[in-house]
Amino acid sequence: MAKILVVEDSDAVRAKMRHYLEENGGHSVLEATDGANGLDILKENPDIDLIFCDVNMPVMDGIAFAQTMCNEELFKDIPLVFCTTESASAVKKEIRNLGIKARYIMKPVTENSLVVTLKSVFG
Ligand SMILES: [Mg+2]
Repeated sequence: MAKILVVEDSDAVRAKMRHYLEENGGHSVLEATDGANGLDILKENPDIDLIFCDVNMPVMDGIAFAQTMCNEELFKDIPLVFCTTESASAVKKEIRNLGIKARYIMKPVTENSLVVTLKSVFG
């Protein structure tokens, strides 16, 4: 069982992801509504094993969140998965150019894509 943070502004998407993550491995899921909220939760829970992060969010978007966390020694090695709807190649390029290592899944997030990602991260 892993401790997983979901950073996503849609209540419905967060609830769906929590359900899938709990159903597939009984993972412990923490939820953040935007990047700033995500950073606060990360500071309180530096033992988080994996982060799923939306790109477009109010207050602080996913890219700003990733930039900040990747500059923190304590958080920079936590696996990060972006959930993206837009043309993945442009977003991936922007993120790569910032020196951020990440995995990607396409929205709408499916149970299968989460299971595949969990296998890829945790083996
Ligand atoms: Mg969003």
